[in-house]
Amino acid sequence: MPGDRKQQHALVNPGTAVGLAGVIVVLAVLSSLPAGEAPGYVDVYPAGGLPILWLLVRGARVVSVDTAVLAVVLFGSNLLAGSDPDVAGTFAVANILQTVLAVLLLRRWCPQMWGCGGAEPLDRPRVLARYGAALVLATAVGSAVAMTGVVAVEAHSTSLAGLLWFGRNLCSALIVVTLGLLLGQRASAPRPRPRLLGDAGVVELVAATAFTVGMYAVAFSFDDLPLAFPLLAATVWFGLRFSTVLSGAHSFLVGVVTMTLTVMDIGPFAAVERLDLGYLLAEFYVATIVITGLGLSTGRDERHALAAELRRTEEDAVYQASIRDAVIGSINEGLLVVDESGELLVHNDAAARMLGAAEGPLTTESRLVLTTWWADGFQMGDEDKPTVRALRGEAVHDAEVVVQVADVGDRVLNVSAIPLPRDVVRGRARALVLFRDVTTELAHREELAAFAGVVAHDLRNPLAAIDGWTEMIADELDAGALDAQLAQEFVSRVRSSSRRMRELIKDLLAHATSSQRDLELSRVDVTQLVEEIAAARHAEGFVSCSPIPLVSADGVLVRQVLDNLIGNALKYVAPGVEPKVTVHGCQTLPNLVTIQIADNGIGIPAGEREKIFEEFHRAHYRDYEGSGLGLSIVRRIITRHDGTIMARANPAGQGSVFEFTLPSYTD
Ligand code: ADP
Repeated sequence: MPGDRKQQHALVNPGTAVGLAGVIVVLAVLSSLPAGEAPGYVDVYPAGGLPILWLLVRGARVVSVDTAVLAVVLFGSNLLAGSDPDVAGTFAVANILQTVLAVLLLRRWCPQMWGCGGAEPLDRPRVLARYGAALVLATAVGSAVAMTGVVAVEAHSTSLAGLLWFGRNLCSALIVVTLGLLLGQRASAPRPRPRLLGDAGVVELVAATAFTVGMYAVAFSFDDLPLAFPLLAATVWFGLRFSTVLSGAHSFLVGVVTMTLTVMDIGPFAAVERLDLGYLLAEFYVATIVITGLGLSTGRDERHALAAELRRTEEDAVYQASIRDAVIGSINEGLLVVDESGELLVHNDAAARMLGAAEGPLTTESRLVLTTWWADGFQMGDEDKPTVRALRGEAVHDAEVVVQVADVGDRVLNVSAIPLPRDVVRGRARALVLFRDVTTELAHREELAAFAGVVAHDLRNPLAAIDGWTEMIADELDAGALDAQLAQEFVSRVRSSSRRMRELIKDLLAHATSSQRDLELSRVDVTQLVEEIAAARHAEGFVSCSPIPLVSADGVLVRQVLDNLIGNALKYVAPGVEPKVTVHGCQTLPNLVTIQIADNGIGIPAGEREKIFEEFHRAHYRDYEGSGLGLSIVRRIITRHDGTIMARANPAGQGSVFEFTLPSYTD
């Protein structure tokens, strides 16, 4: 708050104080002119609110140079207006007291208002009530002190005199302070400022002004008729339709005109027989229109603020909902929100897809497919269903269930269900159900388990052999009967077992990398690769290759394919037969090259030609060493290149042909 006051202080320079002091003096002198037979405190005194506005706008402390200057100005202006020095002193003290009290109360009760420590305009009926109460209380205390002083100094007074003092000061405070603060706030408010015309347009402003002038002209022309009350209609018009600032300005002008005409002995209030009573009536009339106008326009402001707030909240809610929908829609997990009654409240596209409703929206019934079978084949008990448990308040994580998806078949879903806050309006429990398709993951898991089993088995065999042979060596050594030839035999068997293990481990590694390595496609010359492989295997004489069109593939992986297939073709020949491997290739489709590797080997039994591509499957496991992984690696690599592979009998009569496709290379 002190910061705000300082800021206002900076805005209002000392010249303003001098100006205000001048205005107070001039108004005080002017107001004393038509006093006639009435004492000074009875007449109108529009300068009454100025001291309050002075301290508020300047942000001055109540004990300050400003207050001291004010005291001097008030005393001087009372003297100039014709009061005795002791009466002028009394009035100055009462006025200062009233001013200080009003300022303290306003700063305390309306701290958010501009001029009172805050930056807000007077735009709430509740603030208006506090604002009015502060002015009424301060003015009442001021008039009590003034009247007590007058009684003490002049030894005469009436209770009506006190009321008159109160009336003129309250009236002045209401019109001067209010308009001053409203204008000050508007001037200092950041742009864009609220419309000055409020809900109305210029035409309506002209009409309302003409109405006001007309009504006042009528009311003040017919002295004999007490026509003051219809004048309120103009205030109501301004209060309901125009901004608080404009409504305040209207009340100010109407108030000044009313008081001036009354003082000039014109109009319904001047028609009252007793001059002082007429003034009093006029003052309370002005106070009434100010409060009425402000009450209506602050109510209107508040309504507008609430409507704007509501609009903002609504826009915010729509924005939040759009974000929520975008997030829910973008996640790959299926998401459902269901309630106790079984109603499906929310779902995302992934849920619709996974539950087989890709064609249309998910229905409430669709969620039921989630609640029938466990992945291990057991039927779900009613109480065990993840959704039911979540609706009971229990969190369920990673339950695996089987759903039957139309056109797709059985899918395994991993389901988690979490209780949500209760729907208090409808009195229903709600649950969030999240699920993802783990069918492939599960198949992989099972495949991996089987794979690990075979690996363990295949590694254990040579290991057992190594154990056995080394144990025999130890026994022979213990007996001291290990002859050199036997020892050589044992060692060669141990080495053969360890070689098998090494081969298996090498194949396992190749198997793992064949699926994990990123494909690096390039122009690959298969003919050249075949020649390189034959040379590396010292089998140039057994392998022949006719020119093959270039392919677009991962060179390293294609080499692995050819090496496995040529290796097998050289390996699986009957004892004593010289292997003969021929490699052909041609463009079978515009974008496809088909390659055939034919051998004269032992061939593959008809029923085995598919199975040999599975991991660890071996058609001739007795007489030929191997891990059973080579062809599964080959098939995986070809599949990753979007190709196919198959084995068939060699039409030449003996042996087999492996035929596979790869994408052809184009510039
Ligand atoms: P491995 O050769 O290590 O046993 P592969 O996966 O390379 O494993 O081959 C799987 C099986 O397919 C072999 O065990 C063998 O029975 C059969 N096979 C592969 N290539 C040939 C071939 N050219 N001729 C005959 N049988 C073959």
